[in-house]
Amino acid sequence: MHGTEILDEADRLMTVCNSCRYCEGLCAVFPAMEMRRAFSDGDLNYLANLCHACGACYVDCQFSPPHEFNVNVPRTFAIARAESYAAYAWPRALSGLFSRNGLFVSVIAALSVAAFIFGFAAVHDSLVMYEAHLGPGAFYALMPHYAMVGLFGAAFLYVVLALAMSLRAFWRDIGEPVAMRSDAPSLWQAIRDVSSLRYLGGGGGGCFNEDDRPTDRRRIYHHLTFYGFLLCFAATCVATLYHYLLGREAPYAWWDLPVLLGTVGGIGLVIGPVGLLVEGWRRDRVLVDETRYGMDTAFTTVLLLTSLSGLAVLAWRETSAMALLLALHLGIVFALFVTLPYGKFVHGLYRLVALVRYARERKMIGAGDAVQ
Ligand code: SF4
Ligand code: SF4
Repeated sequence: MHGTEILDEADRLMTVCNSCRYCEGLCAVFPAMEMRRAFSDGDLNYLANLCHACGACYVDCQFSPPHEFNVNVPRTFAIARAESYAAYAWPRALSGLFSRNGLFVSVIAALSVAAFIFGFAAVHDSLVMYEAHLGPGAFYALMPHYAMVGLFGAAFLYVVLALAMSLRAFWRDIGEPVAMRSDAPSLWQAIRDVSSLRYLGGGGGGCFNEDDRPTDRRRIYHHLTFYGFLLCFAATCVATLYHYLLGREAPYAWWDLPVLLGTVGGIGLVIGPVGLLVEGWRRDRVLVDETRYGMDTAFTTVLLLTSLSGLAVLAWRETSAMALLLALHLGIVFALFVTLPYGKFVHGLYRLVALVRYARERKMIGAGDAVQ
């Protein structure tokens, strides 16, 4: 007996799959499963987070419904994954935020946007919201730079702490000691696998969505989202260096590096999330955990709103609409930040950690050691 019903079901499926092994070439889940004869809760959470939900093992399986064995690995692992996010959340008192996650993220986003709009109007004369602000430092006429750095810096530190504590709990539960010796090759292998979304390839043909023809659309949209996000983050880092090292204040000209990085990243962060939302909507319901639809879409939607509002600030920054657009953008970015540890964002980090574990296991097996 495991801690939850879904882990009991995952154990049953892994026992069936371990006898069959037909899918061992599809992804990392099945080779990792084959290294075990029995499955602890931590093992099953590890396998669930190794799964990229490509759907290939469901389409290929001779025991999937209506067969009496009722083998549906993608859906079972989707539920187990979502439950693992709550189980490892830090602090534990906030683990409930993963249920009704769409509502939680929506409320935080609405409150955050409202707080920035009323904050701008309260600190300044309310007319500040309807005036054009031009030249270097125009943004800081609405919110001082030190206030922006203080607010977002505090949120960033909290997010890093919450995510680090969650990952530490996951890492220990899947059988790795916290004080393990550094293992740069395994980390590097995992980063390469995550960067290329290797296991979203369904064993080569791609991902299964609305029918039994695999496509690479989810991988492409995921890449656009991921690399768009990284480019936007790079734009923020470069702008910070400009501010502190060169004494140059935002906003910058369209040809300046922070704007170029932010524009290219922002476009990727529009196309990618729109594509992912459409693909998610079109996916065969049998492959997904429908009860987590809110969580699956909330994070993607906030990413999309972040990029749309950022591009809107860029397009209309020299007009009287700038103050309202900036408040909207900062409010959405702040909501994105503070909800990161309690939403779909964590799936990337748990996958990365699971892939580090997988790379280590493969090395241990290669060296003739037993999996811990
Ligand atoms: S998913 Fe089905 S075909 Fe694949 S290993 Fe499991 S039982 Fe076998
Ligand atoms: S859905 Fe894809 S990634 Fe997940 S276990 Fe099946 S084949 Fe592997």
